[in-house]
Amino acid sequence: MTNRRRILVIGPAMLADYVRRALPDREVCVETQALGGVWQAGRSEFGEVLLSLSLGERALRAVRSLRQVAPEARIVLTCAAGNEPRARQALDEGADDYLIEPLRDEDFKQMFRQQGRTISRPSNNGHGPTHAEIIELSDVLQKLGDGPRPTLERLAALVRHALDATGVAIRLDELRASIGDDTEAVLEEPILRQGQAVGAVRVNRRARGTYSASSAARLADLGRLIEATVAQAAKHSSLRTLAWTDDLSQLHNRRYFEERLDELLARAAADQSRVTVLFFDIDDFKGYNDAYGHDVGDDLIREVAVLLKRCSRADDVVARYGGDEFAIIFWDAEQPRVPGSEHPHDPMALAERFQQAIREHSFQCLGPDAPGPVTLTGGLACYPTHGRTRAALLRAADQVLLATKRAGKNRIGLAGEPSAETQQPTR
Ligand code: GH3
Ligand code: MG
Repeated sequence: MTNRRRILVIGPAMLADYVRRALPDREVCVETQALGGVWQAGRSEFGEVLLSLSLGERALRAVRSLRQVAPEARIVLTCAAGNEPRARQALDEGADDYLIEPLRDEDFKQMFRQQGRTISRPSNNGHGPTHAEIIELSDVLQKLGDGPRPTLERLAALVRHALDATGVAIRLDELRASIGDDTEAVLEEPILRQGQAVGAVRVNRRARGTYSASSAARLADLGRLIEATVAQAAKHSSLRTLAWTDDLSQLHNRRYFEERLDELLARAAADQSRVTVLFFDIDDFKGYNDAYGHDVGDDLIREVAVLLKRCSRADDVVARYGGDEFAIIFWDAEQPRVPGSEHPHDPMALAERFQQAIREHSFQCLGPDAPGPVTLTGGLACYPTHGRTRAALLRAADQVLLATKRAGKNRIGLAGEPSAETQQPTR
C-alpha cells in the first residue's frame, strides 16, 4: 500500500531538512544519490517523491525509472532557474510538477497541500486569465492602431503582471521590448509562428513566490497571445498606411493631409504655434499629358513627388492633394515661433527651394527634348493670420494659388499680400 504520508527526498541533506520543516506531518526519507533514490522508491511505498535536479544528468534519467517503480507516487522536481528546460523534459519522462529554486515556503506547501497524485499535470488550459488581465488585454487590443512596437511593450507589461515577474523581455522578429529588471531570466518560452520559432519571451524571477510547471504553461499561452496580437497590430498599421498613402506618388493622400492638419491646428490653438499650408500645382501639366501621353504624365507626378520629399524636412507633411496638385504643411515641431513674428520667412524660403529644385531638375521621363523646365505655382496661407479652421486655411491657400496662376504661373503667392502680381517671377 502506498503510504501517503511518506515522502522520499532525493537530493542534498539540506533539501530534506527543508522538507521536514515545511511539511511537519510527513515522514521524510532521504537519499543523496539518484540511483539510490530509485532503489528506495522501488523498495518502499512513498506517496511523494521530491527529486532535486541539482544531482545532474542522472537525476533526469532517474525520473523515468522512478515513474516505473512508483507509478502511484507524485513526483515533484526542484531545479535551479537555469535548469528549467530540463525540468520540462522531466515532465515528459513522467514527473508531475516542478518548482524553481529558491524554494519559498508558501509555494512549497501549496504544492504538497494535496497528498498523492491527485493534482493533475499542469496543462496550457489550466489557468484562465484573471479579471485584471482581461482588462489589460482589452486595453492592448483597443490600442493596436499604435503599431507593433507599442503593442509589444504593452504585452510585456501584461506578461509581467500575469506572472508577477520582476522583469520581462520579449523578442519577436526584429522587435524587442522589455520591462523591469532584465538581468536574471528564469523562464523562457519560444514564440512560434506556424511551428517556427520567431522570438522568445523571457521572465525574470517572481516578485513573490516560485515559478512552477504551470507558470511555464502559462508563459507558453502568453507567447501565443503575443504572436497573434502583434500580427494584428502589424496588419492594422499596414492597412492604415495604405489608407493614407497615395498610390501613384507614394506620398500621403488628401485624407491623411486633412486629418493631420486638423491635429496640427488643434495643437497650434493650444500652444500658440504656427502652421503654414502650401499648395503647389504643376504648370501646364495637361500639355505634358498631351505631348507625352498619360503614362509619362504619371511619371512626371512621381518624379515631382520624389523631389518634394527630398527637399522637405522630416516633420513637414507632404501630400498629393489630387491630380497635379500637391500640399505641404509646415509646422513648429520643436517649439512655437516667437509670438508676433508674422511673416512666414521659413515656409516661403522652403517653398522657393522646392520650386527651384523642380525647375533645375532634368526630368528623366521627359528625356533630353523636354520643352523647358517644369515649373510650379504655389499658394501659401498661415494659421492663424489667414484662417483659423482647416476649411478657411485651405480656401485661403487655394485662392492665392488660383490668383497666382492667373498672374502668370511659376511663382509663390502669399495669402493676404496685395496680390501675386506684385511678386517677381523666379525664373
Ligand atoms: P495649370 O498650369 O493652370 O495648372 O494648367 P494644367 O495644364 O496643369 O491644368 P490643370 O492643373 O487644371 O489640370 C491638371 C490635369 O492633370 C488635368 C488631368 O487631365 C490631369 N491629371 C489629373 N490626374 C492625373 C493623373 O493621375 N495622371 C495624369 N497623367 N494626369 C492627371
Ligand atoms: Mg496644373
